[in-house]
Amino acid sequence: MNICLIDADSKIPNLALMKISAWHKAQGDQVSWYNAMFHVKENKPDKIYASKVFTFTEDYHYFPHDVEVVKGGTGYDIKKTLPDEIETICPDYSLYDMDHSLGFLTRGCPNKCSWCFVPKKEGNIRPAQDIEEFLRHDKAILADNNVLAHDWGIKQIEKIIKLKVKVDFNQGLDARLINDSTAKLLSKVRWLNPIRLACDTEGQMKHVQKAVELLRWYNATPARYSCYVLLKPGKIDDCLKRVKFLKGICIDPFVQPFQPPKGRIIPQDEKDLARYCDMKATFKSVWWEDYKKTGA
Ligand code: SF4
Repeated sequence: MNICLIDADSKIPNLALMKISAWHKAQGDQVSWYNAMFHVKENKPDKIYASKVFTFTEDYHYFPHDVEVVKGGTGYDIKKTLPDEIETICPDYSLYDMDHSLGFLTRGCPNKCSWCFVPKKEGNIRPAQDIEEFLRHDKAILADNNVLAHDWGIKQIEKIIKLKVKVDFNQGLDARLINDSTAKLLSKVRWLNPIRLACDTEGQMKHVQKAVELLRWYNATPARYSCYVLLKPGKIDDCLKRVKFLKGICIDPFVQPFQPPKGRIIPQDEKDLARYCDMKATFKSVWWEDYKKTGA
């Protein structure tokens, strides 16, 4: 079969498409990116898979009318998942010429934070894959939403330490679950990027403070961690409070203005604060009050 793929809006390599590609190649099928100009007549694909990650981005405009198109991803259908036989395969890393592996050790989250779509999309936390099922490089990006919340995740981190692979949990670690024993464990990991935490509410500040103390006590390096900071609509001051706190304990804040599933236009002051915190040299040398006056 001639299989074509469409990546409608991914900002990073699309894991689902990589798995679909790997599965079809294992069946002896040909897999390529869809090109509306090229894939006509005798080059017409037998089937197209299209993935769209975001609900608020534009859709692909050039779907053919005479080919079966299978659409998936949160942008099309928040509940749609891959069949198990595809979900558990090692991704086709050649699709994006990747120099690192990518995957999930766990899926879901036991929490139900009101602003987050993970519980609705993925449900409660459960094991997903063993890292060795998809590890093909000496470094890996792991997209788990709350890896520390499941014993399987902890066991996988122990395995990661033994394998000496460099990793990044790019969705952040839950500071509430960093205790003496997890901090000790995390200090043995070889980190691809600074450890990422999350501080989405004022109530989480005390947990972040404790987690940072423990991680630094056990010499988890690099010692300058980063932290996602949710900016709720119109709540600049509330967000600034957490940003100031993080700066005070030498953590790099990464401000994320809230984006609902259907999208929203981010107001300029929210964009300014996110940009200010993101520009590390400016963040460390210019006061927010002065930055605002310059009109960013
Ligand atoms: S802990 Fe994180 S992943 Fe879990 S529901 Fe809250 S924001 Fe979402």
